[in-house]
Amino acid sequence: MKIDGSTKVYGIIGNPVAHSLSPAMHNAAFAALGENRVYVPFPVTRLESVLAALRDLGISGLSVTIPYKESVLIRLDEIDPAAARIGAVNTIQLREAGGERVLFGTNTDWLGANRALAEEISLAGSRAVILGAGGAARAIGFGLMEAGASIEIHSRTEKRGRALAETLGCPWLPLAQTGSRPAEILVNATSVGMSPNVAESPVPGDVLRSFAVVMDIVYSPLQTRLLREAAAAGCRCVDGLQMLLYQGVAQWELWVGRTAPVEVMRAALMQAVAAPEAS
Ligand code: NAP
Repeated sequence: MKIDGSTKVYGIIGNPVAHSLSPAMHNAAFAALGENRVYVPFPVTRLESVLAALRDLGISGLSVTIPYKESVLIRLDEIDPAAARIGAVNTIQLREAGGERVLFGTNTDWLGANRALAEEISLAGSRAVILGAGGAARAIGFGLMEAGASIEIHSRTEKRGRALAETLGCPWLPLAQTGSRPAEILVNATSVGMSPNVAESPVPGDVLRSFAVVMDIVYSPLQTRLLREAAAAGCRCVDGLQMLLYQGVAQWELWVGRTAPVEVMRAALMQAVAAPEAS
C-alpha cells in the first residue's frame, strides 16, 4: 500500500474497535480497485471532539459502531431520512457544500439486512419475525417494512419490546411465543449465541421448521446454534457475515462512487472472521 499526499482516509469509530472486521473488508476493496484510500480503526472515548476534528483533518468517511450509532445522529449536519427514522447512523461522509465541509450521516445496516435476506426470499408480501428489540432489530424492522414485508418483534423485555413495536407500528410478542403464528422469515437480532455463549439459542429448535428462511446477525461464530438447528429443520440459512458484508458494500459505494468488488470484500471478511482474535 502506497500512502501519499492524495490518500483519502476512512475509518471506524466506536469503543471497542480493535477487533472490527471492517478494516479488512474496506482495505481489500480499495486495493483491488487501485483506489488511493485507506481505512483505519479509531477507538473513540470523546465523540464530540472527534467529529470536530473530522472536518479539520478532512477524513473522508467513517463507519460508526457501538456505542455511538444513536448519539452521533444529532451531532451531524445532514441526515438521510432513513437514518432519521431508524434513529441511528452507521455511516458518515464528509461532503463539500458552498465551500464548507459538511458531515452527512446515513444508515446502511437496513440495506445490508435486506440485501442478505433478498438473496433467499422475496421480501415484498412476506411475514418476518425479528427477535430482539435493540438497535439492530430497529434497523432491520425498518428495512423489512420498507421492502413491503410485515413484521413482528419478539423479545425478552416487554417494555423495551413494546416500545420498539409501537415505533415500527407492528405487533410485539414474548420470545416464548415464537413459532405460534405463521411467518416465512426469522431474524435473530439479539446477541444470544454469540461467543463465548455458543451453546445458547434465542428460540427452541423445534419452532424453526415453520420458517422458510432464518437469518442470524451474530457472526462470531458464523455457524451459531440457531443456524445449525435451522439447517437441520430444512430452513434456508443466512449468516451474520452477509449483513455485515452488504452494509459495508453500501458504505463503500457511497464513499467511492463506484460499484464495490463484493467478492473481494466477502473473501476478506471470511479470512478476518477465521482469524483467532476476531470478534
Ligand atoms: P442491543 O441494542 O444491545 O440489543 C440487544 C438485544 O438482544 C436486546 O433486545 C436484548 O434483549 C437481546 N438480548 C440480549 N441477551 C438476551 C438473552 N439472553 N435473551 C433474550 N434476549 C437477549 O444490541 P444491537 O446493537 O441490537 O446488536 C445485537 C446483536 O447483533 C449483537 O450481537 C451485534 O454484534 C449484532 N449485530 C450484527 C450486525 C451485522 O452486520 N451482522 C450488525 C449490528 C449488530 P432485551 O430487549 O430484553 O434487553
